[in-house]
Amino acid sequence: MIWRNWTGDQTCAPAEVVRPRSTEEVAAAVRRAGEAGRVVRVAGAGHSFSDAVLTDGVLLSLDAMDRVVWADPGGRRVRVQAGIRLRALSERLAGYGLALENMGDVDAQSIAGATATGTHGSGVELRNLSAAIEAVQLVAGDGSVRELDGGEALLAARVSVGALGVITELTLRCVPAYVMRGVDAPARLDDVLDRLDELAEGSRHFEFYAFPHSETVLTRTNAVVTAPARPPGAVRRWTEDVLLTNHGLHVACGLARRRPALIPAISRTMTAVLSERVRIDRSDRIFVSPRRVRFTEMEQAFPRAAAADALRAILGEVRRHPVIFPIEVRFVAADDALLSPAGGRETVYIATHNYVGMPWEPYLRAAAAIGAEHGARPHWGKRHFHTAATLAPLYPGWERFAAVRSELDPEGRFTNAYVERVLGAPAAR
Ligand SMILES: Cc1cc2nc3c(=O)[nH]c(=O)nc-3n(C[C@H](O)[C@H](O)[C@H](O)COP(=O)(O)OP(=O)(O)OC[C@H]3O[C@@H](n4cnc5c(N)ncnc54)[C@H](O)[C@@H]3O)c2cc1C
Repeated sequence: MIWRNWTGDQTCAPAEVVRPRSTEEVAAAVRRAGEAGRVVRVAGAGHSFSDAVLTDGVLLSLDAMDRVVWADPGGRRVRVQAGIRLRALSERLAGYGLALENMGDVDAQSIAGATATGTHGSGVELRNLSAAIEAVQLVAGDGSVRELDGGEALLAARVSVGALGVITELTLRCVPAYVMRGVDAPARLDDVLDRLDELAEGSRHFEFYAFPHSETVLTRTNAVVTAPARPPGAVRRWTEDVLLTNHGLHVACGLARRRPALIPAISRTMTAVLSERVRIDRSDRIFVSPRRVRFTEMEQAFPRAAAADALRAILGEVRRHPVIFPIEVRFVAADDALLSPAGGRETVYIATHNYVGMPWEPYLRAAAAIGAEHGARPHWGKRHFHTAATLAPLYPGWERFAAVRSELDPEGRFTNAYVERVLGAPAAR
């Protein structure tokens, strides 16, 4: 079996694929792998752009472990199996009158995969998704089942890059279900950058897309409202989400790939037709939208104060490369997970992408060099060029994470080329 990520550009041929239905079956699979001298990785929904999942050993899919184990609506907590997808989780939470405090822009990921890489949305007062984790159940390198519900182990396990063990269940803190008013609107780049703090701090969620070769950006501002949800009809949803957004982007990207010289004109045309769009709907439906146009991506977590300088530098760079995709700018509060890219500092995430099949490496390397000037940290699930040597100085909690890893996985049962590159070899080697 060949495993592929969402973009289709990360593939592997595992020696064995196991689809456990319970924690006991996960533990048995890890023990069997140990006896056979094989490494183990877990695939979530394959929505990482990096080689984080790849293995030639045992690949576990937790797709069948997608249940809500218990829910405590009054205490605003749920216990879920690790393979549940965010879309199913949102539906189940809505049934309990609950919701996630924040989400990224898609809900296809598994909860364990999303949190393992520090997946985030936007909002200066909101931390990444893993901050909602109160406890995890994890199968360690020796096949033992551990409950991590505090202390160093939990701070490490919230953002683990899959290097500590197989997470089988998570207890999540939620918030009461809420409705949001989402406004997408074009704006001038200079105006947005001049008022960046005011805009970022002025609403619960603010983010924007800056387009190559254009002075127009698309802002997205989401606020909680007491009005009832007004979900669009199926036709309007399809017209907006599929026809105008995805189909329009697909046509533009296809033309850009065939005729790169036209990219400045295509980009300016795309921004010229941007218009205001207002939606009022259940929170998760405002956060996410379908993504049918495939791309690859790098995303860097900069100190928030560097936002305008870093973005201007990247916008200067993007003009020198055949890039059609916009740059996405989001804000995240500081948190305390040991490997959180937003650990210990208010953060602006700047994401650089390109359409599948178009050259990405020179552009992403140039953006990475700008990141290095500002001490930016990479998103663990997206492309980057860091190694353990360049990452260790960026993370004050680096050695503390390594100590937890040595305890839970001393022999490196959960390693692969990515983990060894970014976290180093396991303790026992
Ligand atoms: C279209 C698209 C939109 C995206 N939008 C956003 C966004 O808005 N914000 C953002 O921050 N990111 C975003 N991402 C990135 C994505 O959220 C992360 O890469 C996330 O890790 C993917 O989750 P997954 O379930 O697909 O995990 P995978 O990519 O399958 O795995 C990610 C990592 O988690 C590990 N893992 C998975 N399950 C377990 C487990 N049970 N136990 C231990 N380790 C495990 C894997 O081994 C791997 O190392 C986006 C990606 C795509 C393709």
